[in-house]
Amino acid sequence: MAQQLMARVTCPNCRQTFGMPLEQILDVEMDPSAKARLLAGQVNLAVCPACGFASILEVPFIYHDPRKELALVYMPMAAGRTDMERQQAIGTLSRAVMSTLPQEQRKSYLLNPQVFLTYESLVNRVLEADGVTPEMLQAQRDRADLLKRFLEASTPEERMTIIQENEAMLDENFFRILSLNLEQADAMGLTDVFQRLMEVRALLLEHTAVGRKLAARSRALQALQAEPTREKLLDLLAETEDPATRAVLITFGQPLVDYLFFQKLTRRIESETDEETRQRLEALREEVMGIREHIRAQAREEVQAKLRLLRELLTSEQPELLARRRLVELDDLFLNVLASEMESAQQAGDRETLSRLQEVWQLVMRLLQEQVPPELLLLTQLMESPDEEAMRQVLEANSPMLTDSFLALLERVVQDMQARGEEEVAQKAARALELARTMKPAQPEEKRPPQRPSGLVMVRG
Ligand SMILES: [Zn+2]
Repeated sequence: MAQQLMARVTCPNCRQTFGMPLEQILDVEMDPSAKARLLAGQVNLAVCPACGFASILEVPFIYHDPRKELALVYMPMAAGRTDMERQQAIGTLSRAVMSTLPQEQRKSYLLNPQVFLTYESLVNRVLEADGVTPEMLQAQRDRADLLKRFLEASTPEERMTIIQENEAMLDENFFRILSLNLEQADAMGLTDVFQRLMEVRALLLEHTAVGRKLAARSRALQALQAEPTREKLLDLLAETEDPATRAVLITFGQPLVDYLFFQKLTRRIESETDEETRQRLEALREEVMGIREHIRAQAREEVQAKLRLLRELLTSEQPELLARRRLVELDDLFLNVLASEMESAQQAGDRETLSRLQEVWQLVMRLLQEQVPPELLLLTQLMESPDEEAMRQVLEANSPMLTDSFLALLERVVQDMQARGEEEVAQKAARALELARTMKPAQPEEKRPPQRPSGLVMVRG
């Protein structure tokens, strides 16, 4: 993997200089959060620690999405003086991506990445690959602008006027943008903005058609959560006019939608005397079956996808590299699928397949083990040490990890084990804690979480 480059940045606002790591390769398979960071304008976003001024650095990076066969290079004009320099930088980036790929994934699109001069245009290409059209983007921007006007309006009367003049734009899409902004304001601790957004939301829930529909949907869901029975689900479905709300109810109430549920529904249909209501209930039965089938088909497709990944791992020449790239997909469902394949192979007496599947199992287990936080691995090593001398050696070998937070973890283990009556384990942990205290480095280097950007407004270079 490419080494982490650091940049020295001078704040254009207050001239303060500071260092920050540079991102050069964004690979959505290796780092599933990369796409969200790109879309949020956070890639190589420099936030001045002194004044909070934020701007995106004009340094090249490559964005790689192997599923969509996207290799996109951000190459701002400032990044290279000559065409030659720029071509070389592009080549270096795409070769760096290639080197992390197993042989079978090295495809020709990587040799010829698309180049973008602005961050914005690269983002648009990524969205386009998701089926987001320029018209949809414009609609999104219009709604964001409208939200800004709501925030600027100081009285409820002004806000009501904006509602009346923009009925058409106040759709579910607008509510989604509103929710996202609420989450963001909350996460950033912008209480004032959060408060005003909540006021706008309350007004919209009451005074727009979509708002009333969404309010009804959340009431229906709450009612089902409060009383998760087949009867309640049936009542709610029968009285709900909005098909989208019914679909949400069925999805949430899926465990209740079984043979008994359909029996109850059929009984209701049979005992109904009003012809119109009876037809409505019959249509509802069709609808529930359709949605249930859809949910099941999705679950089957997920299993199929895991089977495909398993076959790829079995046939790849570099299974470890492939597994590392697809690590996020190696979840519980994958392990279940793998385990049941091993069972079938065993029952069929297919020794060769079984042993290849076992190799995949061991590989996956090893990679998952690597994901365990190092503090927990150290704790396990300590608790497995046969005697005090072994414990001391483990601690010595890991002395940089003996931070305040690790000591606090050990203290919690001691307390937990005492509370559970596991005296022997508790004593061992207490001994490790004592030893660790004497060996703790004088100036522990605690990892600090990254600072949050202090401004909402992002400047795109
Ligand atoms: Zn500054």
